[in-house]
Amino acid sequence: MAVERTLSIIKPDATTRNLTGKINAKFEEAGLRIVAQKRMKLTKEQAGVFYAVHKERPFYDELCGFMASAPVVVQVLEGEDAIARNRDVMGATNPAEAAEGTIRAEFAQSVGENSVHGSDAPETAKNEIAFFFSELEIVG
Ligand code: ADP
Ligand code: MG
Repeated sequence: MAVERTLSIIKPDATTRNLTGKINAKFEEAGLRIVAQKRMKLTKEQAGVFYAVHKERPFYDELCGFMASAPVVVQVLEGEDAIARNRDVMGATNPAEAAEGTIRAEFAQSVGENSVHGSDAPETAKNEIAFFFSELEIVG
């Protein structure tokens, strides 16, 4: 297994409920290191560019509106197999299907307001990290 980096976002439903620390503890307990982090308020347009891959999906407008509705915390997580490991810690997209102990099982409110985003592959991780962070801001 290689040391990887992945892009994580703590979504508005979680920041508004003051869950940043509890979610970060889940990452750290899973062996993921937070090597960059910042709190931001995205515009709907910025959210739309980030989620452009979902442009044709019926939930796209709702998703972009939600992501711009309150602050997010964007992060780079680093560790062995970090992309898949983070997806495991996050749990399934729909919290009703998320395994016990995962972030979405414990904290998500619905399939849309599901507390966290995580990159799904090496190429998307690279692009999503570059969307939010310069190399200077990532301190491993
Ligand atoms: P994941 O975040 O698990 O990678 P997707 O990439 O499929 O899931 O979807 C991106 C995001 O879009 C989800 O995390 C969720 O916020 C939202 N979403 C996905 N499916 C739905 C849906 N059926 N209804 C509303 N929002 C959805
Ligand atoms: Mg996805």
